[in-house]
Amino acid sequence: MNYFGSHPIAGIDYPQTLQEFDVWFATEQACLDYLQKLRWPDGFTCPLCNGHKAWQMKTGLFRCATCKHKTSVFAGTIFQGTRKPLRLWFQAIWYITSQKSGGSALGLKRILGLRSYQTAWSWLHKMRRAMIRPGRNPLMGNVEVDETLIGGKEQGGKRGRGAGRKNIVVIAVEVHDPKGFGRIRMKCISDMSGESLIPFICENVQTRSTVITDCWKGYNTLQNHEYIHKQINLSQSGNPAHVHLPGVHRIASLLKRLLLSTHQGAVSSKHLDYYLDEYTFRFNRRTSRVRGLLFYRLLEQAVCIPPVPYKKIIDAGHQGQ
Ligand SMILES: [Zn+2]
Repeated sequence: MNYFGSHPIAGIDYPQTLQEFDVWFATEQACLDYLQKLRWPDGFTCPLCNGHKAWQMKTGLFRCATCKHKTSVFAGTIFQGTRKPLRLWFQAIWYITSQKSGGSALGLKRILGLRSYQTAWSWLHKMRRAMIRPGRNPLMGNVEVDETLIGGKEQGGKRGRGAGRKNIVVIAVEVHDPKGFGRIRMKCISDMSGESLIPFICENVQTRSTVITDCWKGYNTLQNHEYIHKQINLSQSGNPAHVHLPGVHRIASLLKRLLLSTHQGAVSSKHLDYYLDEYTFRFNRRTSRVRGLLFYRLLEQAVCIPPVPYKKIIDAGHQGQ
C-alpha cells in the first residue's frame, strides 16, 4: 500500500466520498492511526533525539525508548491541547474541504453539533492557518502581478496615496499560453510602494520568470532582481486593464464575489490574510476531482504547523510564512 506517498491515491490513501469517510473513520482509534501515519510516515520520530523506537503508553501517547521523552501524536500540531475527539476534527476538516466556496463558522457548528459558536469559529481559523504549506514551490513561467482593493469604503481611490479604509491585496497569477491560469498567491500589503510590492514578488515568484505588471512606479525596481519584467502601459493602449492583465482581474473579481457571498463582505482586515490563504488553497487545488484529496492535504499540513492558541487567533495579525 502506497501509504501517504507524495502522490496519494484516492480510496487507498484518502477516502473519496462521505460514505467512505464514515467507514474509514468510524472510531477514534482509526483517526489516531491515520494521523499517526501522516505525522510520522517513517514511523515514530522523537522530537528531542530523533529516535525511532518508542513505547506506546496509551492512546496517542508515546515514550521514546532512547531518551525517555514523552510525546503525543498531537504535540506540535494544530490539534495540541484539544479536548474534543479527533473524530470531530476529522469531520470538521472534511466539511471545510468539501465546501466549494469556503465553510462558515455557523455551518461548522451546525454540522458537528458543537454547542459553542466560538469553538467552531476558532477551529475554522486554525484550519485556515494550515492551508499554506511551508516551503511551497514558488510561481513560475509567466506571472501577472497587480493590486486590488478589498472591503471598506471608497475614499479618493488614488493609487499610491493610501487606500483609505480599504485593504490593499496584491495578487500574482501564473498565466498559460495561449490561455488558462495556473496557481495563485495573494497577500495584504500596507501600501502600494515598491517596498511592499517587490518583496511579495521575490517571496512568491521563481527568479528568471517573466513578471507582467502595469507601469506603476512601485514595480520599477523589479529590474534589480532576477526577473524578466514586462510592463504594459495601460493608459497608452486604450484598453481596459482586464484585457492586458486578465489573470489578476479574474482572480480579484472571484475573490470579491466569494467574500461577499460567504462573509457578506464584512471581513475584518486583521483576518483577511487568512481568508486569502483559504481562497488560495482552494483555487490552487480546483482541478482535484476528488474532494478527499483536499481533506488529505489539509490534514497533512495540519500536522506540520505549530499549535495556535485561541488568544493569538483573536489578536491576529498574519504571521507570514
Ligand atoms: Zn528521544
